[in-house]
Parts: sequence; structure tokens; C-alpha cells
Amino acid sequence: MTSLHHNLVKTITTYTSLILVITALSSCATSPEGRTQFKLIPDDQMDLMGAQSFEQIKQQTPLSKDQNINQYVLCIANKIIPQVTQNPDPKQWEVQVFDDPQANAFALPGNKIGVYSGLLKYAKNQDQLAAVMGHEIAHVIAKHGNERVSSQMATQAGLEIASVMLGGTQDANNAMILAGLGLGVQFGITLPFSRSHESEADLIGLDLMAKAGFNPEQSVPLWENMSKAGASPPEFMSTHPSGSTRIKQLKERIPKANITYQQAVNNGQRATCKL
Ligand SMILES: [Zn+2]
Repeated sequence: MTSLHHNLVKTITTYTSLILVITALSSCATSPEGRTQFKLIPDDQMDLMGAQSFEQIKQQTPLSKDQNINQYVLCIANKIIPQVTQNPDPKQWEVQVFDDPQANAFALPGNKIGVYSGLLKYAKNQDQLAAVMGHEIAHVIAKHGNERVSSQMATQAGLEIASVMLGGTQDANNAMILAGLGLGVQFGITLPFSRSHESEADLIGLDLMAKAGFNPEQSVPLWENMSKAGASPPEFMSTHPSGSTRIKQLKERIPKANITYQQAVNNGQRATCKL
């Protein structure tokens, strides 16, 4: 009996391993820039995680009551969102401005966008703010949050934790999700986006802003404003690390984005969002 039982356990273990391998292989996908991605979490789960995280932030940070800033941010969002192929209807997105001095912004799966009023110190015109928002939305389009949460699940604890995470609400899992979604500063658990994620978000973001009628050349002074801050860099930089490669790579892509931008302008799509 003992031997039979042992064999049975062995067989089950073998099949479980096989299923795990198949699951892992089938969850490999490709980013919009052609990079292979490892994603374990279904899109609707990511949307749910994004929506829940957004509610958490709304509970702990006051919303801006400044009508001008709200209209300005909404104007920019409503130009960019129609360029998001996966979900181009602005009515299905929630955009909030937080009354907070931190220079930061984020977008989450589940069609959520948050902008902190402190960001306006660095994003000095509509095109510069569109560059940040385009970059954030690009992280969502490329499903970087899913990759980040998936790789943490895989490295930290394997399938058991994964199954708990997908249904669980435990604090540790919650922290892992928030960090994976790029909400480091807000919750004190910084997990910077990788160089490859930053690069993809920059390039996809540049394309989005150009299609929306924002001048892509303004992305360069924006990142320069952020980098020049010196001793007290904007909060945005702790989760979106930058270097000289970022500006160099943007400059290389700007001529192509300019063609897209000129087409948008010629079609009467030049953005006119004013503060
Ligand atoms: Zn980023």
C-alpha cells in the first residue's frame, strides 16, 4: 500500500510539473515592441487589481478641487485615450487629479489614470504633460504590470503563492501587486521599471502623443526638466529611472513621431489644452 501510495504521489507530482511547464510556456507573449514577455495573470484579473489599487490611492490622497487643473488634465487624457486601440472610449476611463505636491503620475490596468498636481512643476505645457501621460498609458498597453507581478510570483514562491494571490487579499500580496503596478512611492515599496520597460513605454508613449496631436519634440525638455532636479529628484524618477540613453533614444525616434504628428495637425487634430 505504501509503495502504491508513493507511486501515486510521484505520478501526480510529475503531471503537476508538466502542467506547470505548459502553463508557463503558454503564458509567453510578445510586447508591442516585439520583446518576449512572461505573463501569468489573466487580463481581467489585472484590471481588477488596477481598479482596487486606484480605490486605495483615492482613499489616502485628496482629489484636487481646482477646476482649471482638472479640465486641463482631462483635456489631455481625452485626446490621448482615443489613440489606445485596446480601449479608445474616454467614457470608459477614470482620470483623477490628486492634490499633492509629489511630482508623479500613473496609469493602471482597468483604465485608470492618476496625475499629482506637483507634476505641473516639471511638465510645463500640454505637450510635456502629454509625454508623461502617454508614457504611463504605454506601460499599461504593453502590460508591464502583469510581467512585473508575474516575475515576482515566480521568483518568490511559485504556484502556491500564485493561487493565493489571484484570490487573496493578504497584505504581502497586496504590496507585491502595488509595487508591480508601479505604485512604489505611494506605498513605500519602490520597484523601479526595468530599462527595457522604460524604453518601450517611451517609444509607445511618443507614438501615442504624436497621434493625439501633441508635439513629440517636447518629450525631450520634459525629461531634461526631470533629470536636472538634482538633490531632490521628482518622485516619478524613483519608479521610472532615467539616464542619458533615454533622451538619446527619444531623439532617434522623434523624426518618425514628427511625421505622425504633422499628419494629425494636417487633419485638424493639434491639441489645444490650456491651463
Ligand atoms: Zn516608466
